[in-house]
This record gives sequence, structure tokens and C-alpha cells, in this order.
Amino acid sequence: MSNNGQELNRDKQLKIESRLVQIGSQEEPVTGAVSFPVYQATAFRHPKLGQSTGFDYARTKSPTRKVLEEAIAELESGDAGFACSSGMAALQTIFALFSQGDHLIVSLDLYGGTYRLLEKIMSRFGVTATYVDTNDIDALESHYRPSTKAVLIETPTNPLMMITDLELVCSWAKKKNVLTIVDNTLLTPFFQRPIELGADIIIHSATKYLGGHNDVLAGLIVTKGKELSEQMAFLHNSIGAVLGPQDSWLLMRGMKTLAIRMERHQYNAKRMADFLLQHPQVDSVYYPALESHPGYEIQKKQSSGNAGIFSFKLKDARYIEPILRHIKLIAFAESLGGVESLMTYPSVQTHADIPEEIRTRIGLDDRLLRYSVGIEHIEDLIADLSRAIDLAQAEVESI
Ligand code: PLP
Repeated sequence: MSNNGQELNRDKQLKIESRLVQIGSQEEPVTGAVSFPVYQATAFRHPKLGQSTGFDYARTKSPTRKVLEEAIAELESGDAGFACSSGMAALQTIFALFSQGDHLIVSLDLYGGTYRLLEKIMSRFGVTATYVDTNDIDALESHYRPSTKAVLIETPTNPLMMITDLELVCSWAKKKNVLTIVDNTLLTPFFQRPIELGADIIIHSATKYLGGHNDVLAGLIVTKGKELSEQMAFLHNSIGAVLGPQDSWLLMRGMKTLAIRMERHQYNAKRMADFLLQHPQVDSVYYPALESHPGYEIQKKQSSGNAGIFSFKLKDARYIEPILRHIKLIAFAESLGGVESLMTYPSVQTHADIPEEIRTRIGLDDRLLRYSVGIEHIEDLIADLSRAIDLAQAEVESI
């Protein structure tokens, strides 16, 4: 692979839009292919005993995956990138840093699958977690124990969009000698780069905005620092939940258009949130782009934009079922971050594994819908949801 491509990718003089488009475009010296090829090989011939092309066996290192890994490391301002078979595989690989007796402090509101992995699996290996509002330094301080090894933060959280001041928490964690791990799935490096604010590890469900087309399942890890990067390389290879060459290629293809997609997602989501905010059947809208959101100022300080995802609460839970039945352009489906608009019912889908007591305490109840606003025309999207709410109202009132 040519060094030109790597240099271009790492050239911080270029704006992120250009660096995204250039992923892999100048790294194939033999044919000059602008789209980096899929190297569908698991074994690589050794020139002679004691020599290697740099590739030996695909679990350890694979050419197509390597271009993707270098690109995400550069985009997140980290030192090394690791591509995994899913976001959960990435989290499991990160959690393998910890041992029996270790303790983690974790965002109170977070993706249900992360909670399930910690509570149902990691707990069996003696790794425990305490769930707190990570924006509350007093809460972090009071839950800190000598065995605390890391703080895991989602900001914004999924689905309630709570915001954590990353600089504040990272500096607290550094003083305690605790790692800061940030799930940057919702904002992507296009809008937020936590390593620049002091974080040590980034995790992505690249299935979401990075892939962007609801067609590739993938996870990414980025580490800062030589020692942590070497430890992660060892775990990534030893656990083996790595991303295949075809999916690595598909993910890079999606990432090239990340900038224009994120801008359109953001525009559509803001227009949609404004529409819902004034709708008589809507109780509240959870979106950090709204000035009324409690995390608005922090979000503005630490990121350059907002994702295309928010949640909203209906006044009456009886509206939920008919709305999900009547939306047509917006699909009732369980994911986020793709070009197609998807609506999810967190309390019975993505967050069903979080105990009802916690869900109720944080406001994740049966009136809440999560909306990943796609890049369709905003007027079509508003018309679709408006019609579905009207039809739901007619059904509820006729009972
Ligand atoms: N992190 C967040 C914030 C998510 O929303 C998800 C999935 O929805 C994951 C991690 C897990 O990623 P994956 O579904 O790619 O395994």
C-alpha cells in the first residue's frame, strides 16, 4: 500500500470532508484503483523464513481492514483503530481489558445491549458496573472505588439524549487514574472527537451513521497512547471478533459520504423536532439541538453539530401502537443512523433489557418513541408522521 494515501489521510491541513472522501483512494499503488480493493484472503505468503509482507493471517491484520482502521484512528485523532464484527463485539473487546474485581462507572441512560453485556455476561467474570449521571461529578466521586478502572460514557445517550461534559469528566478520570471510554456512535467524528477532549478509548457501532445505509453490521475501536493501543491489538487478535474484508470495504464506502449525510440528517431532525415540539399530542422532545434541552450549552461547546436522532414522548401511550402501524415512509424498525428514517419503541425493543424500575426513574417509559430521521425530503417526512398521528387520534377517540 502506498504511503501517499496514508499521508493524505493524516494531513490535518485537509478538512474532514475531504479526508472522509479520500479514505483508501490513494492507497493502491499497483493499479491505482480509486476504490481500495477487497482483499478476500486469510493467508499471506511469506517471502522467506523470518520475513513477512506485513500481513500473515487475516485475523491479525488484513489489507482492506487496515485501510479502514487507519482511517478511523486518524478521524478520531487516536493512535490505533480496530474494526470488529459489530458494536457489541467492539464493546466486548474493550471490556476484556478488565479483570475479576474491577469496577466501571457507566452512563445511567445507555444502549440496552451494553447494559445486557455488563449485567448478564461481564458480571459473571467479576466485573461490576454502577450506573450514574456521568455529568454529575459529585455522583462520579461518590461512586468511585479503588477498584474503579474506567468510566464509560454515551453522549448524547441513547435514547434520552443526555449530555455529558467530556472535558470535565476526562480531567476527573485522569486525576483518578481511570480510563475514559466514549461511545461516539451518535455524533461520529464529523461532529465530536472525544480524544481531543481527553478520552482514552472510542467505540462506535459503525452499523449506524458511519456505515449509514442500514446494510453493514460493524464496530470500531480507537485508542490513544502506545501502551493502550498495543493492549487492544493483542485483545482484538486474541478474541478474534474482527470485521471481514467485504464489510470493511462497505463501511469505507459509506464513510466517504458521512459529511453530507450528517448535515442533511441534522437539518431534517431539527425541522422534525420543531414540528413535534408544537404538536398538541406531543408531551416533550428530547433533542440537544433545542435550546430548551438541559445539555444544549455543553453540546454546543464540545461538538460541531447534532445527530439526526432524537426521542419524543406522546401525551397518551395509546397513540403509540396506531402511530407505528400508520407510518409509511418512516419504517418501524430497530436501528438508527441510516439514510432511511426509522422509528423505534425503546421500552419494548432496544432497551427492554433495562429493568423497568431504572427505565421509569430516568423517564424511558411506554410513551417514548425514538426517531432516527433519514435524509428523505423533510416535507414528506413531516406529512407521513403528521398523518399517522391524526389517524392514531381518530382511533383513540373512537374507542
Ligand atoms: N452503542 C450504541 C450507542 C448503539 O446504539 C448500539 C446499537 O444500537 C451499539 C453500541 C451496539 O452496536 P451493534 O448493534 O453494531 O452491535
